Amino acid sequence: MGLVDGMRFAGLPALLITALLLAISSLCAFPAQARSAVVGVPLSTCVARAHAGDRPATMFAAAARYDCGHRQTWFGSGDYWVISQPLDGVPGVQSRSRVRIGSLWQDSVTLYALYPGGKIRGWRFDGREASRHLQLGAMIEWPLPADIGPPVRLMWHVRGSANLRGILISPTIATPHESGQANLAMTAIYAGFGGLCLALLVYNFAMWGALRHPFQLAYCAMVAALMLYALSSSGALAWLNPTMLNNDRLRLNYVLLCAGAATALIFARYFFVPAVTAGWVGKAVNAIIAASVVATAFVALFAPWHIQLLDTAFSLSFAAIIVVVFPIIRRARAERSPYLWLFAIAWAAPILFAALRLLGNLALIPWSFWLDNSTILSMAFEAIISTLAIAYRIRLLSLERDEAIEREIIAARLADTDPLTGLLNRRAFLRQSIGREANQALMLTDIDHFKRINETLGHDGGDEVLRVFARVLRQAAPGALIARMGGEEFAILCPADRAVTPDAVLAKLRSARMPFDLTVTASIGACTGPLVTEADWKAMYRRADRALFDAKQGGRDRARFAPPVAVRAA
Ligand code: GH3
Ligand code: MG
Ligand code: MG
Repeated sequence: MGLVDGMRFAGLPALLITALLLAISSLCAFPAQARSAVVGVPLSTCVARAHAGDRPATMFAAAARYDCGHRQTWFGSGDYWVISQPLDGVPGVQSRSRVRIGSLWQDSVTLYALYPGGKIRGWRFDGREASRHLQLGAMIEWPLPADIGPPVRLMWHVRGSANLRGILISPTIATPHESGQANLAMTAIYAGFGGLCLALLVYNFAMWGALRHPFQLAYCAMVAALMLYALSSSGALAWLNPTMLNNDRLRLNYVLLCAGAATALIFARYFFVPAVTAGWVGKAVNAIIAASVVATAFVALFAPWHIQLLDTAFSLSFAAIIVVVFPIIRRARAERSPYLWLFAIAWAAPILFAALRLLGNLALIPWSFWLDNSTILSMAFEAIISTLAIAYRIRLLSLERDEAIEREIIAARLADTDPLTGLLNRRAFLRQSIGREANQALMLTDIDHFKRINETLGHDGGDEVLRVFARVLRQAAPGALIARMGGEEFAILCPADRAVTPDAVLAKLRSARMPFDLTVTASIGACTGPLVTEADWKAMYRRADRALFDAKQGGRDRARFAPPVAVRAA
């Protein structure tokens, strides 16, 4: 991570801060759009505990039995009557033929409408009927009949209310147009989120294929869980399967939310270096995930049995998930993780909203549609930042890769060169020369009486002579492959038709200025022939070496030609 260079990435934090500000400002704009699911005129309500033998007509008249002061969650679970304010003051009541409430855990809800003259009509929605009438944003909607005029008052008989978030939430009376608009707006939001999830899923899965970080799989699992959670919690699932019980859909919400939170925690666990979740933090993460899975399993399997208790257990395990993120962040800071600030920015919104939702679940703050759907909004924000985080990570990796390639090139070059002269070494020379199709000319060049030079100048002086000798060879045979084969023996190879003559090389050597103005001569054994295979090389080398021996025998400072190796017929 030595590559993390604050200056180089100065642009990225600025980009992220801009994205954060944009997201915050768009979140601030949400209350203005809060009508998208909770549309129509909100109705204020009062609550009465239901008793055996209660009749709708008496309950419309029994004003004294209703409690308008307490928050609904104060009453606990059970059967209730909920009465609306009188509707005569509601603007445009004639055209408001849609009664809407938020979906909650309950066995059935019967809506009663009181008409002028005392006529009462009722429509009972059990769990299946509720599913059939579920609108996007998980609102249950009753269409009021068109044959009679507007009702003067509404009343609901709620049976088997778990009363976790309330007995009857967000009751409104809306026009068909408003209801249609709400579905359209919610479709846009959920479809946008669904598309985002799908893209993230594919993108991160493909990235996992390339990078193989375990946290990427956890991230994919989290996105999949949240996508399914959005499908279920939005009510879209009830559109796909209208025969399902609304309470079963709520059970599924618990399971999918738990899966989303647990995988998010697993993601956080593997996102940083192992030291961050070593020791008790890792153990706490495991224990919390296990606890939330158990709490969820109990809700999913046994609700409404002890539902209030189980829901609180679920909420507390959720709280623990939020809390354990803090030691992870603290440790990541101590470990100087370069990804910490990205993680913090990306996850600040989901963690904050999860905490607020939790307060809502524990009835410490009132239920709100947007809070209930905040997971989707904050995760959309998280997704955008995470994409930038992945881009950042890829940038670091590509920089690392570029450096590695550079190092590799340097290493390869070092492995191929003779350190003293900078010429190719024998191995590289053979690799580059064998396989040449055209007829080649090889000149084996050996310095004469080099032992004496060493004796005269010392070993270092001899080295200097070797360096100068190499430089002269390069000048004498430009474009040729030149190598130091070992000691004071060199090889020059070039296509036979463009060959430098050995005499020209020798002349150049004679006229070169050597250290201490020493006269340095060399002998050359030359040979031409094909150089396609290693056998060709051996044959050619043997002949050139023989010619070199002849040159030495002939008095040195001269060249001798070996008979050319015949080019094989094709
Ligand atoms: P000839 O004319 O027959 O080639 O005689 P020569 O003395 O050049 O040949 P010989 O093969 O007997 O000796 C080569 C010498 O080169 C022996 C060795 O010490 C010296 N030598 C080999 N490698 C190096 C080196 O890297 N640096 C120095 N300074 N000397 C080297
Ligand atoms: Mg020699
Ligand atoms: Mg020699």
